[in-house]
Amino acid sequence: MADKKKGPVEKIALQCTECGEKNYTTTKNRRNIPGKLELMKFCPKLRKHTLHRETKIK
Ligand SMILES: [Zn+2]
Repeated sequence: MADKKKGPVEKIALQCTECGEKNYTTTKNRRNIPGKLELMKFCPKLRKHTLHRETKIK
């Protein structure tokens, strides 16, 4: 039985740690990634790759 409220897949935004812009949205499976997701992503504002950290959408 699938639990609609607490599924393993969660929608998240990826926020640039340097300028604070939320540049990407993605999903993550909480079963595979228990902690905070951190990725090197291209920031269009700074025009370079920066560390982006998981944050809530909205
Ligand atoms: Zn940025």
